[in-house]
Amino acid sequence: MRAHLAVVAALLAATIVASAQGGRRAVSLIVTGGTVLTENDLRQVLTPGAIAINGSDIVDVGTPADIAARYAATQTIDARDQIILPGLINTHTHAPMVMFRGLADDLALMDWLQKYIFPAEAKTVSPEFVRTGTRLAALEMIQSGTTTYTDMYYFEEEIAKATKEAGLRGVLGETIIQFPVADAKTPAESLARAESYIKAFKDDPLIVPAVAPHAMYTLDRATLVASAQLARKYDVPVLIHLAETQDEVKTAREQYKSTPTGYLESIGFWGPKTVAAHGVWVTDEDIAILKRRNVGLSHNPESNMKLASGAAPVLKYMAAGVNVALGTDGAASNNDLDMFGAMRQASFLAKLSTGDPTAVPAQAALDMATIGGAKVLGMETLIGSLEPGKRADLITVSMNSARQTPMYDAVSHLVYVTRGDDVRNTIVNGKVLMRDRRVITLNESEVLTQARTLAQKVKDAVQ
Ligand SMILES: [Zn+2]
Repeated sequence: MRAHLAVVAALLAATIVASAQGGRRAVSLIVTGGTVLTENDLRQVLTPGAIAINGSDIVDVGTPADIAARYAATQTIDARDQIILPGLINTHTHAPMVMFRGLADDLALMDWLQKYIFPAEAKTVSPEFVRTGTRLAALEMIQSGTTTYTDMYYFEEEIAKATKEAGLRGVLGETIIQFPVADAKTPAESLARAESYIKAFKDDPLIVPAVAPHAMYTLDRATLVASAQLARKYDVPVLIHLAETQDEVKTAREQYKSTPTGYLESIGFWGPKTVAAHGVWVTDEDIAILKRRNVGLSHNPESNMKLASGAAPVLKYMAAGVNVALGTDGAASNNDLDMFGAMRQASFLAKLSTGDPTAVPAQAALDMATIGGAKVLGMETLIGSLEPGKRADLITVSMNSARQTPMYDAVSHLVYVTRGDDVRNTIVNGKVLMRDRRVITLNESEVLTQARTLAQKVKDAVQ
């Protein structure tokens, strides 16, 4: 009730301000004074600039003087000495796996999965586990400037609920996998779960439900096809791991006399709204298939380096016209969800693996984490750039630390020296989730305490 009265009072105040100040249009929020990187088609930069937001939408982008002359806001964020940019888009993670952060490191993918992660998951994953893990992941994402994330895990409806509570945007896929898992004994059960989850969240303003068949090597043909068909029936995205390791390619060649991409093509798996994570070991023909099927690539440089999986041929994908975005992968193989790290490492890994220091320059890395992410998710009309009519998903980043001084080029600084901790304000769908580094939608100490308590159970499970 108090909150309701406060809202009414704020609205009244806004109306009075608007009428008293020469008919300026009342809006809910203005973010002003910082350098604005719009990430629009022209990659326009305003130094300084301001954004007017009303409700969930960006209504205007201009100079601070123009925005102040046209709009009266109930709430203003002063972003002087900061950079204002679109919120970062993480196109591949497994949010609750933050609970396995640092549990087992320095292993190859198959050893890591089969000896540690799958057994630990079998003993610990529950609705409560994913709620606690998702809250922890959401806290970290809000603190480090991610506003949209893409997820593949179990009990995805619980992840969706926790994501909504935190105020983040999510493309969240219910995992389909061949062996019995915590939320389903069979793939058929997983598919049924996925269907009811899709129905429950189909028209949600923040959540895009998705189907997440784990990978071609963990699913039989019938289940892969059924997963793709389910997604098409409801017009929702498909999320899959693809060609992550050489082992996966070997399996595909032995069992199907094809590459993973070619095999999935042969069974009619590829369709619109599909995001393939990793795509490290692909042929030119595979890349042509992905382009033809309009599949988006989620590049996960840090996970690929940590597990020594390899370097995805990002330049080849881009040259072929495949949309490329960035992901962190789960925190158990990264070990954080900081998209600034992903941008920096995407640039460095491309340079190292091609021997070309001009590969993936700072602007290209920033594009992958913003508008590129939106394109891979098929959401470029809604998010990924700061333009009137789009949803108000944006962050402000402080540029005051010693490490960021002096600043000649904002994009260079964002990619090459900034860390998630430098984010000051995080706004999703017009709502301020973090203001001056204080997270508003989650109780930080409670989230951390719950995670530490749950960690004891994880520890016991693997001993
Ligand atoms: Zn993954």
